[in-house]
This record gives sequence, C-alpha cells and structure tokens, in this order.
Amino acid sequence: MTDLLNTPQNIQQNKQVTDYDYIITGAGCAGISLLLRIMKEPPLRNKTVLILDSKMKDNNDHTWCYWEEGYGFLEHLVHYRWQQLNFYADKTKQPLDISPYSYKMIRSLDFYDYAKNLTLKRTKVTWKKATVTEISNLNDCAYVMADGNKHTAQYVFNSILLNEDKYSFHEDNCYKLLQHFKGWTIETKQPIFNPDEATFMDFRVGQEKGAAFVYLLPTSDTKALVEYTFFNEELLDRSSYNLLLKNYLEKYWKLQVDDYTILETEIGIIPMTNHQFRSHQDSIINIGTAGGWTKASSGFTFQFIQKNTASIVAALVEEKHPVTGKGFSKRKFNLYDATLLNVLVNKKMEARDIFHKLFSKQKPQTILRFLDNETNLWEDLKILASVPASIFLPAALHELLFSSKKNKD
Ligand SMILES: Cc1cc2nc3c(=O)[nH]c(=O)nc-3n(C[C@H](O)[C@H](O)[C@H](O)COP(=O)(O)OP(=O)(O)OC[C@H]3O[C@@H](n4cnc5c(N)ncnc54)[C@H](O)[C@@H]3O)c2cc1C
Repeated sequence: MTDLLNTPQNIQQNKQVTDYDYIITGAGCAGISLLLRIMKEPPLRNKTVLILDSKMKDNNDHTWCYWEEGYGFLEHLVHYRWQQLNFYADKTKQPLDISPYSYKMIRSLDFYDYAKNLTLKRTKVTWKKATVTEISNLNDCAYVMADGNKHTAQYVFNSILLNEDKYSFHEDNCYKLLQHFKGWTIETKQPIFNPDEATFMDFRVGQEKGAAFVYLLPTSDTKALVEYTFFNEELLDRSSYNLLLKNYLEKYWKLQVDDYTILETEIGIIPMTNHQFRSHQDSIINIGTAGGWTKASSGFTFQFIQKNTASIVAALVEEKHPVTGKGFSKRKFNLYDATLLNVLVNKKMEARDIFHKLFSKQKPQTILRFLDNETNLWEDLKILASVPASIFLPAALHELLFSSKKNKD
C-alpha cells in the first residue's frame, strides 16, 4: 500500500509548498558557482532561487588561482593564465612546464559582477542583501532566517559557517593549521616582470615562524600580484606582513618602495584542518569551505568548488538528493591530507623540503593531479616514494588508526 502511494505524481503532490525551490546562503565563490550552473542547465531554468549575502559583493576581495586543462566553465572570466611556473626551495630556480595545464587567475569582482548581471535577466532568481542568522530543516524542506524574515525551500545550499559549526570546529581533536597571507597588486615604474612566468612557490624566505613562501603572479611586465603566505597556528599583525612583502621585493626583485605603487591589497585566512565538516543534513547541503571542500593540506578550494557544484547540479537535474564527496577516493585523499598535516604540525619535516623533494622527483603534472585528488593508486605510490618513508609511513599509519575517531560524519 505504501509503495502504491509513492508514485512520482503523489510524491510531487505531497511535497510541502515552499517559497523557493532552492535557497543559496552566501554569494561567495561556492554560492555563485552553484547559481551559475543552475542557471545554465535547461531542466532547472524554471526553478525559483533565492541567493542571500550580508555584503554587497562589490569589491575585489579575492583573487582565485587554479590549474586546469583546456577551456573551463569560467574561462570567459579568466583574467590571466600561465603555462610556466617557477619553484624555489633555495637559490636555484626550478622551472615547471605545466602544459597541458594552465595556471589561471580570476578576480572575484569580475565573477560577482558577471553573476549579478546575469541574475538581473532572470525573473526566477532573486538576489538579496541580508544577514542569515538561522538555517534549519522543517519536515521535508528547510528554512532560512535572514534579517528577521523566514524563507522556505526544498533545498538550502549553505556556504556560511554559522555559530555551532564554528564552535565544533574548535572543539574536536583534529589538526588545525591556518594558511594566512597578505597580497599586494603592485605596478612598477620600470618593466621588470616576465608575464609568461609565474612564481608558484618561493621558499627562499625565512622558515622560522613555520612554513612560509611567496608567490608572484605577473600580469604584465610592470604589474604583479605578490603574496606572502604562512602555514602555521599564529596570525601576524598586519604591519608584519607589509614589512615581509617590502623586504621580499627589495631582496629578490631589487625594488625599493619608491619603485612601485600598491594598487590593491588582499588578505586571507584559510583553515587547513582534517576536521570533518558536515556535508549535509536532510534538506540543508553545505557547500564551499563550510562543506569541507577546502583541501586540508594545501588550502586550495576553487577547483573543488567547481567539481562539487557540477555534481550537485547533475544530481538536481536527475532529481536525486544532491550529496557530494563520498566514497573510497574521498577517504583516501583525507588520509593523505591528515598525514601531511601530522608531519607539518609535529614539525617532522619542513614544508619547503617536502615540496622540494616532490618537485625534483616528479613531473609537475602528476603533483598537480595529486593536489586535485585525481591521482590513481599507482601515481599515489610514486608521490609517496618521493618523500622519506621513515617520516611519512608512521604518520600515515597513525592517521589510519586514529582517523575513524575523528571522522564523526
Ligand atoms: C583572499 C583569499 C584568496 C583565496 N585564493 C584562493 C586561490 O587562489 N585558490 C583556491 O583554490 N582557493 C583560494 N582561496 C580559498 C577559497 O577558494 C575561498 O575562500 C573561496 O572564496 C571559498 O568559497 P566559499 O563560497 O566557501 O566562501 P566565500 O567565498 O567566503 O563565501 C561565503 C559568503 O558568505 C557570506 N556570509 C558570511 N556570513 C554571512 C551571513 N551570516 N549572512 C549572509 N551572508 C554571509 C560572505 O559575505 C561571503 O560572500 C582563497 C581564500 C581567500 C580568503
């Protein structure tokens, strides 16, 4: 009898009437990437979508870089791309030809503007500036409280770390490193940069405060984004980042403060943790950093957002529950990430030496695929053979034995 009632027509009729089909909380990288993919998919064109953010999203608060083969979904928004990256562990420059990959840069303001303009043309999509205070499940749908108003939807895609998530993130016994950085977009008076080559990681800087490196991404012979990055537990005060950037430009690019103008600044803190963020709870699907899509051992998130939002949209088209990130592959890479965090947090080997060993022994393409969670077991073994077994095997074994305690989801 129950089965007879569960025909597709009846399921449709029994569905709770909601204000929207989908609500997206947070119009950042994950929220907008999902929105763009929903809007592009013909079977989802009639879905009503509400996207909420507490900010206007009218400044260039992020510069996202990622590598990709060929023409990607966001290609039209790419500001600049490189096929040669340079790596420095010591004085010697190691050039890395990453073709067929390109290292691509997207400026967040271009991304926000593009999405906002597209939304204006769609009557089914509503973009509101409002602060979200609560997200909860309600029977077979979910609701969001924002600026005192209640909105219901079949699914809520949430990219905001609300209070209880922030709290539990600090409560469990996982590794927590912070990737924190400050960047300047500078313009020099004289041509100095080669815009065909980007400095991917420059570890020549001091390592005494934990792993530290600089990247420098030139978009012309006079313009570049230069960022000073740390992987450690302690943030610096703002003036210290400025001093480090100034000293780096002086020492390695012979640039005095009068030789350049700072056009823009960017600061960021990205969690590097094996804490298992909750992926979903009934009709609430967590996305982006809030969904655990940041790679724990590198902080890279952008391409994971692209892959996961694509699979969410594929599930929505097939009217399936849109859950991401399950299975053996996810568990395998979680183990590798936890192993690397174990080595770094316990100071068993410096990040500079780990990356130096990897880039001197493996093709850059294999390393990039590994960082993308795309290598097969054979390639994983090659990567693992590049780093000292006496350090990494005990760390991996420890994580294998203790990870089940940490993985609550
Ligand atoms: C400066 C910076 C640069 C980065 N560069 C790279 C990179 O080059 N490559 C890479 O792979 N990763 C990078 N990352 C990591 C990651 O890709 C970004 O953090 C990315 O923006 C994460 O997307 P998200 O949607 O999860 O979060 P966000 O983009 O931060 O979006 C969350 C949104 O939620 C909104 N919000 C928060 N609280 C509320 C609330 N209560 N109510 C309503 N709205 C709210 C915020 O305003 C924001 O718009 C960078 C991170 C930072 C901080």
